Amino acid sequence: MSGLAWMPILMYHRIVEHEPSHDPDRICTSVARLESHFAWLAARSYLCVPIDLALRPAQPGEGRRFAITFDDAYEETLRLALPVLQAHALPATVFVVSGLVGGRSVWNHEPSQLLSYRELLDLHSAGLFIGSHSQSHRRLSTLALSEIRQEVADSRHELEQLLGTAVRFFAYPYNDLDERVLAAARSAYSGAVGGRAGKHSPHNLHRIDAARMTTRQLALHVSGIHRWVRKQPMPGPLRRLSARLA
Ligand SMILES: [Zn+2]
Repeated sequence: MSGLAWMPILMYHRIVEHEPSHDPDRICTSVARLESHFAWLAARSYLCVPIDLALRPAQPGEGRRFAITFDDAYEETLRLALPVLQAHALPATVFVVSGLVGGRSVWNHEPSQLLSYRELLDLHSAGLFIGSHSQSHRRLSTLALSEIRQEVADSRHELEQLLGTAVRFFAYPYNDLDERVLAAARSAYSGAVGGRAGKHSPHNLHRIDAARMTTRQLALHVSGIHRWVRKQPMPGPLRRLSARLA
């Protein structure tokens, strides 16, 4: 098989004490659910690794690996997610919108508080990795090339200056990218994470949207079964059924 080997990368957004019944953007994950995911993975000897290890194949004897990402940098990432990560000694990457540090997630149906500069520093000194999630969280494929470059490359410089750390990974807002966006990310970052569209590659590392998954769903996704099923030739109705189950 050619191309970059796949490793499960979990995508979370906002961590909450209790999942609301109304979650129009489907971004809320309770602390209890997050705990259940990590406990399930640990019990099956999955090793949590920093995101940059997704760029190289597993070494012989290394076992099963996975990585954790949080998009948008909601204030709860520090208050609620960090204690869970620390309790299990798990590395994770938080993707920050450089122009909205300390602001609100204005792109959501119900905007939420984002981490402040001080809180980002705390998160970073606690050992989490910081990545860029653009300057303003716009849909990058809809922008002119000059704006794409600004959103992608300038956000890196802004975060590096602000936090005094190297920013080597990018997450596409809405997991939306085209060839121009991909090229901009390639020239500015070691790697980038997306959703599951397009070809899995160092600058479109496929992720699993784990926000609302049960451990049973998580099990199927981290096993790679869904990826395999999607690649199989099958009639339309079966394909639709498998998409629904995913
Ligand atoms: Zn986002």
